[in-house]
Amino acid sequence: MKKDVLIVGGGITGLSLSWELSCLGINSILVEKAPFLGGHVSQFACKATETCQKCGACLLEDCLSKLAGAECSDILVNSTIDSFREASRKFNALILQRQSQVINEKCDDCGLCSKVCPVEGALLRPSLDSRLYISNNKCLKSLGIQCEACAQICPQGAIELAEKTKEIKIEASAVAVCTGFTPFDASRKPRLGYQRVPGVLTTLELDSLLRTGNFEPLLPADELKSVAFIQCVGSRDAKSGANYCSRICCGVSIRLARLLKNKYPQAESTIFYMDTQTFEREFDKTFGQAQNEMTFVRAMPAEIRSGEDGRPEVTYHGNDDTKQKVAFDLVILSIGIGPRDPDLPRSFPTLWNNRDGFIGSDDIDVSGGHPGIFVAGANQGPKSITDCVSQSILAASQIKKYLDRVKMGEQL
Ligand SMILES: Cc1cc2nc3c(=O)[nH]c(=O)nc-3n(C[C@H](O)[C@H](O)[C@H](O)COP(=O)(O)OP(=O)(O)OC[C@H]3O[C@@H](n4cnc5c(N)ncnc54)[C@H](O)[C@@H]3O)c2cc1C
Repeated sequence: MKKDVLIVGGGITGLSLSWELSCLGINSILVEKAPFLGGHVSQFACKATETCQKCGACLLEDCLSKLAGAECSDILVNSTIDSFREASRKFNALILQRQSQVINEKCDDCGLCSKVCPVEGALLRPSLDSRLYISNNKCLKSLGIQCEACAQICPQGAIELAEKTKEIKIEASAVAVCTGFTPFDASRKPRLGYQRVPGVLTTLELDSLLRTGNFEPLLPADELKSVAFIQCVGSRDAKSGANYCSRICCGVSIRLARLLKNKYPQAESTIFYMDTQTFEREFDKTFGQAQNEMTFVRAMPAEIRSGEDGRPEVTYHGNDDTKQKVAFDLVILSIGIGPRDPDLPRSFPTLWNNRDGFIGSDDIDVSGGHPGIFVAGANQGPKSITDCVSQSILAASQIKKYLDRVKMGEQL
């Protein structure tokens, strides 16, 4: 396949770049390693209460529906770059595409496979389509461990776990790396009780439970009366190697607290914070309004453990420097955005590193440090969905300029 641009990563950044390029008449092929598109945003709930909270989650569906009609945008899911070579201003990539393990035409959605699967999250149903996918990062069989429980129980024979791959050769004039971020792993902070204390979740998990409607089995609606949000988990924290603000977490917690209150009117939220970020447009206004809707405590909890009644109990030092212990029905850890290994072949040109393990020259410029290689999105540093979309517009215009120079035979 000959294409103008090869896009690596099918999160909101890669997808909106594909759309922006198609608007400029530039054809692209997008390679996504997961079996579905959308990256992290595909796990987010719409946070609208009576009014839109401008979380940006719906921008993904907008982008996907625009791309469905775009003629010059091709997409490969379940695919990774196996080898990469540059010759005469062209990039040649060999793509390996794993064939889908779920035959959707046969699947009748009986749910038996999810019941027998021993690993939580190995069978996925992202919001954007109702199809079932197997996560290659979590499925035991994909990780080389003997397990075929889902395939064996499926009465329709709709699951085929045997690995089948297809090779696709692509020649492109430019490459855009949009490989995204890694959410902070809250288990690195054992004192906050994640995965040890029942009722302690991350913002990402709460978002996903609210999206899929699986929140109520966790805690019946009438029992949810108090929720604590703990800010800056894996942000502004030199000890965790994340001595920066993740920019999105304050807005995320306020929107989630409002959504919980809207769905469960008796649910009161308390936000424990160090400092607020002011990156989002109108954040000061949002923060001012939120102070009338929820309680803000300027303190970082020292510890979260199971209290006497089994609920998570937060220990912190109050303003008067006295030790406080308060139990909540749920404690939500507001996790930050961390760098991610772009997972590219060794022959791929070395990408610039900016800081804290993120790639690109800084978190705005889209050049990757090698002619024809561009970088965009949250792999450059913490960004909101709208910032990623804006950056993809910048990347599309820079790529167009580059392709025009290549066509003119200019020295690069
Ligand atoms: C807890 C939490 C809540 C958030 N809530 C909000 C919110 O409410 N509003 C908001 O504006 N922002 C929010 N954000 C930020 C938002 O998630 C990011 O702005 C957005 O996901 C970045 O998109 P991206 O495409 O750059 O990266 P990602 O979403 O990480 O997508 C990257 C994609 O690239 C793919 N990929 C990676 N490597 C390869 C490879 N080598 N080959 C092929 N594919 C590859 C991945 O599988 C993935 O699909 C939140 C972040 C967190 C952590």
